[in-house]
Amino acid sequence: MKKRISGVSLYLMLIVLVLVGLKFFSPPVETIPEVDITQFINSVKANDVKEIVYDSREVTYQTKDDKSYHTVIPQEARVYIYDNYISKAIEENNIKVTSLKDKETPFYIEWIPTVFMLVIFIGFWYYIMNQSQGGGSKMNSFGKSKARVLKPDDKNHVTFDDVAGLKEEKEELKEIVDFLKNPKKFIDMGARIPKGVLLVGPPGTGKTYLSKAVAGEAKVPFFIMSGSDFVEMFVGVGASRVRDLFESAKKNSPCIIFIDEIDAVGRKRGAGLGGGHDEREQTLNQLLVEMDGFSNNEGVIVMAATNRQDILDPALLRPGRFDRTVFVGKPDVAEREAILKIHSKNKKTSDDIVLKNIAKKTPGFTPADLENLMNEAALLAARRNSPLIEMEDVEEASIKVQAGPAKRSRVVTEKERKLTAIHEAGHAVVSRSLPGTDPVDLITIIPRGMAGGFTAYIPEDEVNFMTKSQLENELVSLLGGRVAEALVLEDISTGAHNDIQRATAMAREMVKEYGMSDNIGPINYGDGDEVFIGKDLGRSKSYSEKTAAQIDEEVSRMLNDSYDKAKKILTENMVKLIKVSDVLLEKETIKRDEFERIFSGQEEISKDHQDGSSYIKDEDLSKEARDIIDKDGQSDLTK
Ligand code: ADP
Ligand code: MG
Ligand code: ZN
Repeated sequence: MKKRISGVSLYLMLIVLVLVGLKFFSPPVETIPEVDITQFINSVKANDVKEIVYDSREVTYQTKDDKSYHTVIPQEARVYIYDNYISKAIEENNIKVTSLKDKETPFYIEWIPTVFMLVIFIGFWYYIMNQSQGGGSKMNSFGKSKARVLKPDDKNHVTFDDVAGLKEEKEELKEIVDFLKNPKKFIDMGARIPKGVLLVGPPGTGKTYLSKAVAGEAKVPFFIMSGSDFVEMFVGVGASRVRDLFESAKKNSPCIIFIDEIDAVGRKRGAGLGGGHDEREQTLNQLLVEMDGFSNNEGVIVMAATNRQDILDPALLRPGRFDRTVFVGKPDVAEREAILKIHSKNKKTSDDIVLKNIAKKTPGFTPADLENLMNEAALLAARRNSPLIEMEDVEEASIKVQAGPAKRSRVVTEKERKLTAIHEAGHAVVSRSLPGTDPVDLITIIPRGMAGGFTAYIPEDEVNFMTKSQLENELVSLLGGRVAEALVLEDISTGAHNDIQRATAMAREMVKEYGMSDNIGPINYGDGDEVFIGKDLGRSKSYSEKTAAQIDEEVSRMLNDSYDKAKKILTENMVKLIKVSDVLLEKETIKRDEFERIFSGQEEISKDHQDGSSYIKDEDLSKEARDIIDKDGQSDLTK
């Protein structure tokens, strides 16, 4: 980035310099009034002329009142005019006369523009050459690895104690730590130590962190380089960087080389654009060569991280290369609690914060999310000028991390607020009415991120698998928002866009990936690998057009069924739906307990609600909704 900017500014500077140069060295363009020869002669004779500059017949003269004029003396009359009119006057009146021929600029001044341009061009050329040599600021940094080194005594270093959870993973890496601490012991014993360890897991699960901890634990240098650092525009640079990296590592053994995001170089060969021996493949080949090249016991361990093991070149995973794979997954409740503990260690938290409860409410959060959560909570507390982080900060931060910051300043019309309240209440009521769904934790109509509102659930238990009925129920809840809009307002909005997208994707997955459709059966119709230009271009689906049509039909049937189910639920619970929407309009956010009370009819409707619903008026409701309420004998709600 920095380089890009300095490149642009260099261009600008060049242009400015050239302009300045041209301005400086070209004769000033002045317009001197042209007069005829008679006026010139008269002026001279009248002793009105101070100075004359001439270049053969071209005469420029300056009068005593500091005005310049230009005239041309006719060729034939030149000598005559001079002799008869001017020479005497010049002498008498002491006029200064200069010939331009005498005043000619010295040669070196004439050369300045040329030299100047030459210097600029050489500079420019030098700059271009530098750029093309692989981005180093010096020409000779060409091909040098850009690895960062974390020394064992670095104060940013982490050890296993800083890594919460991941017990088995740490256990597995312990062996590597022991080896790095005392390679000799292992060598003497003739033990074969893995050369490479590949960490696989979703982003933010702590792959980089864990690798650092291995180095910190073993107290050895840690060479970090990211896969994308190898890949440059110019052929050969990546390979030479790999060579350089391994060379410096060997000099510093025992040590760890860590290649982050190795998929940038380690993709399957033959899959890239152009298909041939491109730069990335050369780099990968060099990496394979280097890993084969040093023996097991040189004390260098290569670690690498990726979240896409499936796209790595199989050659990387062969014995003698990355022969050990450690999976780093998302943490479970206990691990989340431990991670929260680590990241609240040097934060001032109030006593009412129970990390266990936060951990329970954050399923699916990665360690990076949790760290972010605690940090956001601290920021929110600071903004409130509170000395301690309170539970409410953590709760707000948790919603913020999931759905973006609250946008209280966004202008929302009353109509939009009503629509959002009914939509979110629709999700909550449908989900609450279905058996086996996660309880509603919070409903809010404060706009966040792209969404107008937000409904959060808390999964009771950690789940690794979802059953078909759970997935079906989720489909129904997802459509609850849209159904509520349609039922209550007789019109639907774009607010359900994201819900419908998610529901469709989910139904499609259920049919194609999980074999959960009755009409198609347990067949996986996945599209398989990512399609790379070059390799898979033109590869067709693994199923026929007829099957594709069947899949589409199944998906749409499932979505329509779910829609009908949601409609049935909301029709039966119309009064509850309106009540929840109404309280939402009043309070903007409803928490779990309150929602439970409203839903089970325990909640005393607040004073201004005693005459029924004060936010949602009778005339807001569609005829259908009014009919349902009337038929239920629940007309008291809107009387
Ligand atoms: P990845 O490389 O898998 O994308 P990182 O290693 O960058 O993830 O982890 C992101 C952040 O999450 C780290 O900076 C660290 O603070 C935190 N973190 C990750 N794993 C743990 C853990 N096991 N215990 C505590 N904090 C963790
Ligand atoms: Mg990482
Ligand atoms: Zn929705």
